[in-house]
Amino acid sequence: MAVVIREAEVLSEVPQCRLLILIMSYWKWALRVLGCCVGRGGQYCCRMQLFFRNWKDLNIVLEQLPALQCPFCGAGGTLIRYGFNRGYITPVRRGIRAQRIRCKLSPRRKGCTVTFCLRPSSYLPRRCFRAKGLWAFIQQLRTGRSIKAAWENSGIPLSLDTGYRLYRRLALCQPILRTNLWSRAPPKKSGAGSALRQVFDHLIEVFGDECAVRAYQEALQRDFLAIA
Ligand SMILES: [Zn+2]
Repeated sequence: MAVVIREAEVLSEVPQCRLLILIMSYWKWALRVLGCCVGRGGQYCCRMQLFFRNWKDLNIVLEQLPALQCPFCGAGGTLIRYGFNRGYITPVRRGIRAQRIRCKLSPRRKGCTVTFCLRPSSYLPRRCFRAKGLWAFIQQLRTGRSIKAAWENSGIPLSLDTGYRLYRRLALCQPILRTNLWSRAPPKKSGAGSALRQVFDHLIEVFGDECAVRAYQEALQRDFLAIA
């Protein structure tokens, strides 16, 4: 230890060496920050299921949490339960929307402190209506109804403005949905109608007619309304 300190003192006489010593002192911290940044950008070090068929399947994974690797930094044994994401699970009812998980900073300085959520695939992240309601809206749009008529028949008791916002969001998601659906299977027939209508048809071809929004989230492990 004494030798190391003497070497550090000698080196610190030169300004450039001081900078080098500073970098060497903080390289672990810098790597951790870099790892967090890469993780937040969506580049997973390893895969982890984020959408589940139901709460029962989710709870099975929660029991195995200490043995799993963090999907952001790859550290093992650092994942802990970190409370719940609560809010409106339907426009009129509050409840638990997701289980929050945190990659804790352990005594050995592992972990990246990133927090993320695990949820059933029938729940849409950051939305107060469920996948079933969104699918009903999409089905109504497929029949050629206007946005107003499709929204009023979707069964989601929110204002028409929300319906128009949701339609614009679907239009923004269209390229992402198209790319992800192509990763599963190409469309069987050449598309007719608008680009959004073609994506809806492709969605049914890949995931069937029964709540394809939920099936999409569970199969691809992605938020259906993600735009990145
Ligand atoms: Zn981590």
